[in-house]
Amino acid sequence: MNSPFPVPTLSQGPAGLSLEDVPLAAIAQAHGTPTYVYSLAALSAAYNAYRDALAGRPALVCYAVKANSNLGVLSAFARLGAGFDIVSGGELARVLAAGGDAGKVVFSGVGKSVAEMRQALDAGIRCFNVESAAELERLAEVAGAMGKIAPIALRVNPDVDPKTHPYISTGLRSNKFGVAFDEALALYRRAAALPSLRVAGIGCHIGSQLLDGAPVVEAAEKVLDLVDRLAAEGIVLDHIDLGGGLGIRYRDETPPAVADYLAPLLALLAGRREELLLEPGRSLVGNAGVLLTRIEYLKPGVEKNFAVVDAAMNDLARPALYDAWHEVVAVAQRPAPARRYEIVGPICESGDFLAHDRELAVEPGDLLALLSAGAYGMAMSSNYNTRTRAAEVIVDGARSHLVRARENVEQLFAAERPLG
Ligand SMILES: *Cc1c(COP(=O)(O)O)cnc(C)c1O
Repeated sequence: MNSPFPVPTLSQGPAGLSLEDVPLAAIAQAHGTPTYVYSLAALSAAYNAYRDALAGRPALVCYAVKANSNLGVLSAFARLGAGFDIVSGGELARVLAAGGDAGKVVFSGVGKSVAEMRQALDAGIRCFNVESAAELERLAEVAGAMGKIAPIALRVNPDVDPKTHPYISTGLRSNKFGVAFDEALALYRRAAALPSLRVAGIGCHIGSQLLDGAPVVEAAEKVLDLVDRLAAEGIVLDHIDLGGGLGIRYRDETPPAVADYLAPLLALLAGRREELLLEPGRSLVGNAGVLLTRIEYLKPGVEKNFAVVDAAMNDLARPALYDAWHEVVAVAQRPAPARRYEIVGPICESGDFLAHDRELAVEPGDLLALLSAGAYGMAMSSNYNTRTRAAEVIVDGARSHLVRARENVEQLFAAERPLG
């Protein structure tokens, strides 16, 4: 997979841009646009990089479902043997519908409801990542009433100082997440005393799109220190969950390879018996997907030229939300001259842009691919402007599978009623 693009299975050939062996033009013809297209080989390669780096030690890679929760994607990871990190009962239902193993599911999130706790206990998940004292008490009560024992890990906030690591692009988690370190010991003692809870592990997750592994190593050192203090009190943990967060290349970022990211963590854990859990999202799916869109109109202007495309901020929110950069490539190469375009959608907001100032040789009706759109793309899409959400396709070699049909407008308001 030697691609000039950040998406490793994307290539330019006589049929234009192809993902694996499927021309994107053929997907647009079969399924219309906008359509998210994911590469099974790229998903698998990203997962296998973790699997290979972790070979030889007890470990479980729990794919963070919120990055891309399509059932096709989840089923691919389930087949590869992945576990799942969920943040809602809805995500648990998706994992089970996709054939995922509840016994490999960890449940994160600061606001778990009673109903979600019951659902997860019924399913028999691997662990609840508990984020507060109040949640611990509620979980103990819910499990006790069901006659079950809930496996728990505390999600601790290792308070790794972001100022010492200015190269973390997204900074660290605010206090909303996790349990402060000084509270953790007392909470573990409390959990160990509650008969409806089983202390299983410890977790942390310090941020997203991390381009350097150093802060995670620092967090891991603090977590291990706590694990040893707990063991000294007779509270023995089975697993250490170091969360997700490894970044990807969108433009010119240089995140470490998975093996290099994990090497210092594995060195820290060498000789230890605890299972290592990880919760990667973006680094498993981000560069496995593109958003395929068609140019509706070209609007040349005095100051700027606009390419109005049929995808919009409701389909891919990251540019409007974070000013995020996605590479834009024309599916069919045309001879120059190229012009510089603002790539914008049809939504009635000036903030509705997908990319600024991109040099492209294109005509109306041409297809564009927005790269690195596999994570937090479709998952964050909405129906703003009563726009139906995109179709989703997974390619596998020369085959393609429609894994989500394009919505139709009737579905959008089927649950609504005009006043009698
Ligand atoms: C979002 C999230 C992840 C995944 O983060 P990525 O940056 O996509 O790897 C993992 N764990 C938790 C608790 C999260 O909230």
